[in-house]
Amino acid sequence: RDASLREVCVSDNLLNRGLTFGPVARQQVRWLHEHLETTDQGEKGPLRLLSYPLVKNGSLLGVVQVGQELGPLQQTIEELRLIYLVVGPFAIFWLCLGCWLLAERTIAPIIEVTEAAQGITADNLSRRLPLGSHQDELSQMVTCLNQMLDRLEKSFRRVRQFSGDASHELRTPLTILRGETEVTMRWAKDPEEFRDMLRSNMEEIDRMERIIESLLTLAKSEVGELTLEMKELSLSDLVQELYLQSRILCETKNIEILLLLEVEEEVRIRGDELRLRQMFLNIISNSIKYTPDNGRMTITLAMADGSARVEIRDTGIGIPAEHLPHIFDRFYRVDKARNRMDGGTGLGLAIVKWIAEAHGGGITVTSEVGKGSCFSVHLPIDGPEEGKHPKTTILD
Ligand code: ADP
Repeated sequence: RDASLREVCVSDNLLNRGLTFGPVARQQVRWLHEHLETTDQGEKGPLRLLSYPLVKNGSLLGVVQVGQELGPLQQTIEELRLIYLVVGPFAIFWLCLGCWLLAERTIAPIIEVTEAAQGITADNLSRRLPLGSHQDELSQMVTCLNQMLDRLEKSFRRVRQFSGDASHELRTPLTILRGETEVTMRWAKDPEEFRDMLRSNMEEIDRMERIIESLLTLAKSEVGELTLEMKELSLSDLVQELYLQSRILCETKNIEILLLLEVEEEVRIRGDELRLRQMFLNIISNSIKYTPDNGRMTITLAMADGSARVEIRDTGIGIPAEHLPHIFDRFYRVDKARNRMDGGTGLGLAIVKWIAEAHGGGITVTSEVGKGSCFSVHLPIDGPEEGKHPKTTILD
């Protein structure tokens, strides 16, 4: 169209069909704005029409109109809608079915593991979760859970064993107390017999007291209620005091006792003096207890790799190799009957181990039956490392 909006030329495609040019479109191009509209062309269907003003030096030179019939496009859309309406529901149905079967296959092993896990209780801790045939993430998790069950089973077994042992240990003195009391009450006539019974009962009461005290110490150490009062102390002095004390204890059995200080200067460490004394006295009293008359005991103090080492060696009965890994367990005794007569509770070395470890150190033992045993405690000079023993409360 020219500047006065009259048709100048028309594309052949239009044939005889004129393009509508409504008042709104005319106004827009006069204002030099392009105009886009959809016009209804009667039976030929709608037409999308763009009227584009040609501008030179700010004034209208002419207008170009370009149109696109929307009929074929709408027909295609109609056809597509029909296809979607007919085929869509089937496609969605098969898709859902496929997803459901796939999910079923993926989730089935998880459900199996969950059901197996629900069936595991404190009474059947030996059961394990089923391990799939594939090496995937699920089987890794199942392996992990099974390992955790192994550990749980072991600690449950330990707890059961411990409570069984504890009740057995306490029942024995109680049975003796009751038996002796009953017999004396029925048969004893003179005061001396009653006095004997009370004396014997006192021994059993002492024994029970010792067991309960040791049990309490161990139980408290496990829940972190036991405190270590750390301060700098002279291990050299402590070892010498223990040596002098042991000399008195050794006298009755005529055991020779030696002290070897294999250090060039005084050894000072950070530790709880009372607990350390208790630890060494437990080891020393064992050595005296399990060493026959006229034997020998040697206490050695040395330094190795920034740790102090205290060794207590005896020429006693020794410990058979198969018992060595267990002697630090609670209530473990090599000779059950004999230890009871000796007044042992079977808890001494468990406490020793806890004290050594709570100080950041440890204890090792070597022994030969008939020749003797050697308990070696190592203690770091600076005490336990921060946070390494969360179950022990450390006071500085
Ligand atoms: P107990 O109170 O019975 O002595 P411990 O926990 O102190 O309990 O010791 C555990 C066991 O280790 C003892 O019953 C004993 O059989 C063995 N034992 C400990 N120390 C020695 C030693 N010096 N010589 C031989 N056996 C020992």
